[in-house]
Amino acid sequence: MHIHIGATSEGKPVKITASKNLIFENIVRESLTRKGMDLISIVDCASPGVLKDIKKMISEGELHPLQDGGLLHRDRLTFIPASEIETAEKNGGVSHHISYFPDIKSITEFSRVMRQYITNIELSSQRASLTASELLSVTKATGGVLIPSHAFTPHKSLYGNAGRRMVEVFGDNAENIPAVELGLSADTSIADRLDELKNLSFLSNSDAHSIPKIAREYTIIQMKRPNFREFILALHRNADRKILANVGMDPRLGRYHRSFCLKCEKVQQAPPPVFKCQYCGNENKSKKDMITGVLDRITEIGDFNEPVHPEHRPPYHYQIPLAFVPGLSDRIMNYLLQRFGSEMAILNIATDKEIHAALPPDIARNLIDARNGKLDITAGGGGKHGKIEENKESGYEELTFGF
Ligand SMILES: [Zn+2]
Ligand SMILES: [Zn+2]
Repeated sequence: MHIHIGATSEGKPVKITASKNLIFENIVRESLTRKGMDLISIVDCASPGVLKDIKKMISEGELHPLQDGGLLHRDRLTFIPASEIETAEKNGGVSHHISYFPDIKSITEFSRVMRQYITNIELSSQRASLTASELLSVTKATGGVLIPSHAFTPHKSLYGNAGRRMVEVFGDNAENIPAVELGLSADTSIADRLDELKNLSFLSNSDAHSIPKIAREYTIIQMKRPNFREFILALHRNADRKILANVGMDPRLGRYHRSFCLKCEKVQQAPPPVFKCQYCGNENKSKKDMITGVLDRITEIGDFNEPVHPEHRPPYHYQIPLAFVPGLSDRIMNYLLQRFGSEMAILNIATDKEIHAALPPDIARNLIDARNGKLDITAGGGGKHGKIEENKESGYEELTFGF
């Protein structure tokens, strides 16, 4: 529910930092065939160039608007139009939010309104001259639903940068928010240390800026069929619709899990919260000294030292993206995809026996260890991903995640 588009079909850039082959067609193909998804959302749809592409696909019969919201592609994949926007509070706190819309009409109206608050509406995740609460009001008025993105990351997020509590940022408007996105450096155990999130649902999204990263995190949702209305019902846990599980990276593998000293460039390993570098003594006086980790921030602002999960909270399953399992080259990966059908099948459905039958013993063992969360991890921070440590038995050297 959080995929970026790199360029329009005419080759105009949409997200500067996103890969150029991240165009609508390639996103749909990867989501359907390699990742086996039913429902996706692209978050750059307020860009007029992207809107034009979507309208063209509707007129060519490639996308069918659904009565309950969302657009169906070839009877197999539902796509929800959305827009990720950066907002700033009066005190300077910056945060990102995704506004999801049921149809092209509503997001076109949203785009039209947002034009007056954004310098370049063609580009994605642009800073709007609005507070987060004002963006929520615009989203609601144009028929959308707002969800804070990667809610705990240090630079641009609700809890990392804009405030310590929702009401500080959204006031009474907070009651219109049904869910938050966890982000790659956080999981359910981190988010459930805030009491105010007990009634909200959690989304685990990839925030993909390139094709292979689609579905490195995903959410399993119980709903009648994939469409906008059902998605929102599930976030509210209405009529037995609900989130069944969050699937994502171990948060230690994320880029902002622990505090990072900008002077000696080391990820802190001491018990959280760390505000003074354990290696060089540098103190976190300004944003130039240290980048606060997600775990350090939640320890600072959380209500609980240990997570308190509400009864409805689904399990969070850790998944190591296939591309980074030690020994899995592109060639082996393509072979596995042909044999098992999709990454989901390789990671979750194939049995250990089937994996052993398909691969040399040491690579098979790494894949099975990765599936079972048995590989050792050193936490990431300051924009550097965590690391999978050397697997001594199979002799692989230390592998760095290269997202
Ligand atoms: Zn994003
Ligand atoms: Zn230091």
